[in-house]
Amino acid sequence: MNQAAADRGASSTELRVAVVGAGPAGFYAAEALLKGREDVSVDLLDRLPTPYGLVRFGVAPDHQKLKSVTRLYERTLGDPRLRYLGNVEFGQHVTLDDLRKHYHAVVVAVGAPSDRRLGIPGEDLPGSLSATEFVAWYNGLPDHADLHVPLDATTAVVIGVGNVAIDVTRVLAKSVDELARTDMADHAIEHLRNSSIEEVIIVGRRGPAEAKFTTKELRELGELLNADIYVDEGELVVPAASRAAIEGDVNAQKNLEVLQGFARQTPEGKPRRVRIRFLLSPVEIQGEGRVERVVFERNRLEEQEGGWVAAVPTGEREAIDAQLVFRSVGYRGTAQPGLPFDESRGVIPNEAGRVTDAGRAVPGVYVAGWIKRGPSGVIGTNKADAMESVRALLEDADAGLLPAPPDPAPEAVDALLRSRGADPFGTTEWFRLDAVELEAGEAQGRPRVKVVAVEAMLRSGRD
Ligand code: NAP
Repeated sequence: MNQAAADRGASSTELRVAVVGAGPAGFYAAEALLKGREDVSVDLLDRLPTPYGLVRFGVAPDHQKLKSVTRLYERTLGDPRLRYLGNVEFGQHVTLDDLRKHYHAVVVAVGAPSDRRLGIPGEDLPGSLSATEFVAWYNGLPDHADLHVPLDATTAVVIGVGNVAIDVTRVLAKSVDELARTDMADHAIEHLRNSSIEEVIIVGRRGPAEAKFTTKELRELGELLNADIYVDEGELVVPAASRAAIEGDVNAQKNLEVLQGFARQTPEGKPRRVRIRFLLSPVEIQGEGRVERVVFERNRLEEQEGGWVAAVPTGEREAIDAQLVFRSVGYRGTAQPGLPFDESRGVIPNEAGRVTDAGRAVPGVYVAGWIKRGPSGVIGTNKADAMESVRALLEDADAGLLPAPPDPAPEAVDALLRSRGADPFGTTEWFRLDAVELEAGEAQGRPRVKVVAVEAMLRSGRD
């Protein structure tokens, strides 16, 4: 940006945009706005003091490389046309109507914070957890710091065959010495120290060709220092319909090869076992006062119209004894105050990022990321997704479709937030907290030591 634009600051002639949610989609939207137009100013809001969303609270602690994407986000934070307003909750401290008074446009990028349900009896028994809350717990999300994870179990069942299921399995299968070298939250490392887990069984309702995990992640399960991998060759038979469905799908083909390799692997007698099972749908989680077993129904695969391969129950049942269950069947978006919501898909209805209500565009309101398209793809997928939404926004701005907000001054936003009892955490404060965490990590030979409680985050950033 040139100096003149910097000096101008947030004048009333520039395009003022609020981006709600500072995860990958929010950052890519902010970046696209800053690159797409010189005279733009962006306020990036997040309900937590810390930015980066699922990069901080979702990416597995033993996958540090994936987190290096935050260096790009730091560059966005450093742009003088952007203000970071952490610790500000949409719906509590500010409403959509408030934002429309102060900004030409709002981009909602709040992700998919909830989880999909199985809808089977016993789902809420103690010892049955959603993978999303477990992931949030070991990654230090403040809301889940007190989650009770009964690790006195010897067998854990993970339902679902996506990358989250693999993350959860690795965390359960690795030794605590391996995990203690990561940025996993200290409370989780301490708790995992006393884990009695001996076996983790990942269960898919369809076949190996339909598994959602990516090959790199799957392969890692065969390279665990602390656990042997077991796959039954008999469950790797791929029917013609599945073969046809994955034609040209390199990931699915490679997954099959890796699984075949696992089936041939000779166990080395490592302390723990990881088992991958297919063609089993959970029908009930049973136990007296806590999980004791999961009852599955065996499926066969059947081709549907359009080539989709469906799991069809055969009536045959199988019970697997386990004291811990992780339901890893996908994240889910939640309704946001003042915005339309598609309950069946868990997304805010939109056309190429323009929010629609009963088929009509809601002027000046856009979405990006998982709340726009559903919980799919990897971090980078959000870049093209956010760029599409920002393109729509800038087109609308150029076409004069964004009404000028009555009170565009940034100071008016500050005053509003104060009046609502918000205590915004800015870029400088975040960078200070970040430095505190990195320094503590260096002292322990770890990437960082996360501060978990919100109060402690605020203190560390302001000391
Ligand atoms: P996902 O990839 O959508 O996998 C969900 C799994 O749950 C599928 O196997 C699905 O089977 C199964 N499932 C859904 N409903 C079920 C039911 N009622 N009973 C039994 N199984 C059911 O979701 P995810 O693992 O939560 O991952 C979310 C996104 O984050 C994905 O795009 C993933 O790649 C990404 N992610 C990436 C990484 C990484 O890059 N390392 C790490 C974590 C997550 P069906 O196919 O039969 O529906």
